[in-house]
Amino acid sequence: MKNKTKAKKLIFGSIFICLVVLISISPVSAYTLNNLWWQYENAAFTTDSSVPSSWSYSITQSLSEWNDADSDFYFYQLGGQNNKFLYDSLGSTTTTLATTKKWKYTDTSYLSRCEITFNSDKSWSTTGESTKFDVQSAATHELGHCLSLGHSGVTDATMYDTMAKGETKKRTLHADDECGIIAIYGNA
Ligand SMILES: [Zn+2]
Repeated sequence: MKNKTKAKKLIFGSIFICLVVLISISPVSAYTLNNLWWQYENAAFTTDSSVPSSWSYSITQSLSEWNDADSDFYFYQLGGQNNKFLYDSLGSTTTTLATTKKWKYTDTSYLSRCEITFNSDKSWSTTGESTKFDVQSAATHELGHCLSLGHSGVTDATMYDTMAKGETKKRTLHADDECGIIAIYGNA
């Protein structure tokens, strides 16, 4: 998104195309946007040492899933960044599986930083075990928030707001999620 005029045109064009697709899937409510974005259409992420090392493949796959969505945006992995995956206690009685915190530059719509924290008080699996929550599904969902997507009303979308134990469908973006990222960052 290099300048405002281009951005507005891209957003209008993408929303129009997406509505045509969505009428046949869900006419009710689809992706939502927060009117914030990464100015240079990319973000480098670090996996903090608190995250179990056995999760690295799941995290890489979650980043790749958004990179494959045909938008202009690109995630990459690099050490020592402010954008991070973390693993920390968020409480065992809460329904919160993971949180995403975002920062933006003052007086702009540009995001400056994003942190995703997995709740270490929940049980996690990288293989879709039926009694645990899926790491890759949760990571893909939270990365959507880092891109500035809100929740979607489409139940099969990655950005739908709840996830059951053993559920792995959020690993794969739904057309609604792809329309959302393209609406923000344009079509590659
Ligand atoms: Zn969410």
